Amino acid sequence: MALVVQKYGGTSVGSIERIQNVARRVAKAYDEGNDIVVVLSAMSGETNKLVALANEICEFPSEREYDVLVSTGEQVTIALLSMCLQSMGYKAKSYTAAQIPIRTDSAHTRARISSIDDQRVREDLRNGTIIVVPGFQGVDPEGNLTTLGRGGSDTSAVAVAAALKADVCEIFTDVDGVYTTDPRIVPEASKIEKISYDEMLEMASLGAKVLQIRSVEFAKKYGVVIHVRSSFNDNPGTLVMKEDPEMEAVLVAGVTYNKDEAKISVMRVPDKPGIAAQLFTSLSQSNVTVDMIIQNVSHDGFTDMTFTVPHGDYKKAMKIVEGTATGIGASEVKGDEHIAKVSIVGVGMRSHSGVASQMFACLAQEGINVHMISTSEIKISCIIDSKYTELAVRVLHESFGLSGEDVQQETL
Ligand code: ADP
Ligand code: ASP
Ligand code: MG
Repeated sequence: MALVVQKYGGTSVGSIERIQNVARRVAKAYDEGNDIVVVLSAMSGETNKLVALANEICEFPSEREYDVLVSTGEQVTIALLSMCLQSMGYKAKSYTAAQIPIRTDSAHTRARISSIDDQRVREDLRNGTIIVVPGFQGVDPEGNLTTLGRGGSDTSAVAVAAALKADVCEIFTDVDGVYTTDPRIVPEASKIEKISYDEMLEMASLGAKVLQIRSVEFAKKYGVVIHVRSSFNDNPGTLVMKEDPEMEAVLVAGVTYNKDEAKISVMRVPDKPGIAAQLFTSLSQSNVTVDMIIQNVSHDGFTDMTFTVPHGDYKKAMKIVEGTATGIGASEVKGDEHIAKVSIVGVGMRSHSGVASQMFACLAQEGINVHMISTSEIKISCIIDSKYTELAVRVLHESFGLSGEDVQQETL
């Protein structure tokens, strides 16, 4: 007998018919002799609706009340699924995060899970009950409701799996695995059979929103194997797991894109110690996270600095930088909201050369100009004009042989 955690995303519980479909899948896994804990998202579109309601009341609602509101979407689906399972003759019980409890810190809207009590759940499992818990929700040390950030149900599922030492954590979604790139942009994308935690972390951070970044961090930390699969078919999905030698043989595992950033350039900044600190301290004090940064070679004691910030923070960041720029003696601040970041990711890059030049040549061939570059051991990212995003993703995917059976592999 195994202990299985199954998480179903918004599309998978998007209607009564779909909740009934989930109930049949859960029942099947139970009938096969497993203990089952189900983690659910809200119905698709529901969380967005709740956020919109909050914004109708005011532009910046209290984060505590925001969490009380947006965490309700998950409460609806856990009750509906439990009712459905009960009507099929199964013992099923839903618990809110506060009842379990799933404890988090007090960082409303982006809380981190600190611990999960397994006592209640284990007792129920022992008497054959299927447990249904909400994703996304938590409770802080003062008993306030918290939420884990958008897409946070993935993290809830992995954390529950880690706390219960589950045998497997299945993430059911609307695609049957992690693909070499977003299949909505490149229909020829191929499914990855297994991917390392580090590659998945990079892919998730660089735009592949199939898993929330924190869920992968959590899985890596606690050694939870994630199986990403579809709730609409029985195909084997993708295993997110510890790196193995086979993974290194693949040069590039995936291509990602992210249109959620904007670029700011500060022109003719005096090239002397302390200037960068001044510029970026003012941004961090206002909670603006800076992603890529480049500084040009200096001429006559002056240099240009360019960096990217989340799109949602662009206006705020421009205001702050314009304020600081005068103080540090810069000549001008320029902004560009129409950029995108395209990236290639793969642990194989560690041991192979020529990957960066292939990427740049491929973009150049299509006349796509690269504004900024950043690299890590296992990824290369380029900032380009956003109008070329889809084209760039397609040509990179093709150039690195990621379509169909053609995955570029070194002969061993
Ligand atoms: P859920 O509601 O189940 O949590 P999400 O919408 O959060 O589902 O994540 C699934 C979506 O992620 C897919 O529909 C797909 O468009 C998108 N996606 C982006 N990049 C990838 C990728 N590399 N592989 C698979 N899906 C991806
Ligand atoms: N319902 C939440 C969201 O839409 C959490 C989740 O679905 O993972 O972001
Ligand atoms: Mg999701």
